[in-house]
Amino acid sequence: MIKSLERVNGMKLYYICDVCGKKYESAEFAEQCEQRHQLDEQRRKELESQRERRAAQIKELARELSERVKEYNSDYSEPIRMENIYGLPAWGLLEILNSLASRR
Ligand SMILES: [Zn+2]
Repeated sequence: MIKSLERVNGMKLYYICDVCGKKYESAEFAEQCEQRHQLDEQRRKELESQRERRAAQIKELARELSERVKEYNSDYSEPIRMENIYGLPAWGLLEILNSLASRR
């Protein structure tokens, strides 16, 4: 935390967050700001460490879903309808599944 004196309508003491440079009139608030950045950074690192595993899980689930859709569609005359699954219109989801299937 940086203490800084600035001339804004006279002398005023500010406490400045080391990370973002935001000014606070109390040391406590400046410390809280720095702690927030620390937590954000921890969260970012945590998310980053999970990224590849989570992406692999999603791809595996999508691959499995793609297989099941293909099996279903070959077993029944009417193809499965999947409108608006998780906000994806059916064409979007099927497009994704097809692109995954064609990559193997
Ligand atoms: Zn800050």
